[in-house]
Amino acid sequence: MASKTSTDTTQNVHRCLSCGRPIRSAESIAAGRGSGCRAKIRRAQREADLSAWTDAQVESARELIEDGGIVPTAKPGVFRTVSTRGDAVYMTSAHWCGCPAKKECYHRAGVVIVLASHAPAIPARQPLRLAA
Ligand SMILES: [Zn+2]
Ligand SMILES: [Zn+2]
Repeated sequence: MASKTSTDTTQNVHRCLSCGRPIRSAESIAAGRGSGCRAKIRRAQREADLSAWTDAQVESARELIEDGGIVPTAKPGVFRTVSTRGDAVYMTSAHWCGCPAKKECYHRAGVVIVLASHAPAIPARQPLRLAA
C-alpha cells in the first residue's frame, strides 16, 4: 500500500511520540522517539512504581514502548496501545485498559512508564537536598 503522492511531506516527517519534535535518525524513527526522550523512558522505567507488575510484564511494556506501540491520544493520560501480535489496538490509561486481560496488563505498565517519563526530573514535592 505505497502512497502515490510523493509530494505528501507529512508522511515523511517522523515525530517523537513524547515531545512531538521531528526525529531523523533511523534508530529514533524505529523507536518512535528521539534519543533524549528514550533516555527519559529508561529513567522512568527505573524510577516509576511498577510493583503491581511482574518483571516479565515490565519487560513487555518496555518492548512495547520501544516498538512505538504506545501512542498518545487527544485525551491527556490516555494512549492507544497495540496488542502483542499487532492485530488489535486498545485504549489504555494508568488506571484502566480495554484489553481482555483486565487485570494488571503490561499495556498499563507501559503507560505508567511513559507518563513517568513526561514528569519533571525532580518531583516538586521532593525537597531539594544539598550535597553532603
Ligand atoms: Zn522527544
Ligand atoms: Zn491491557
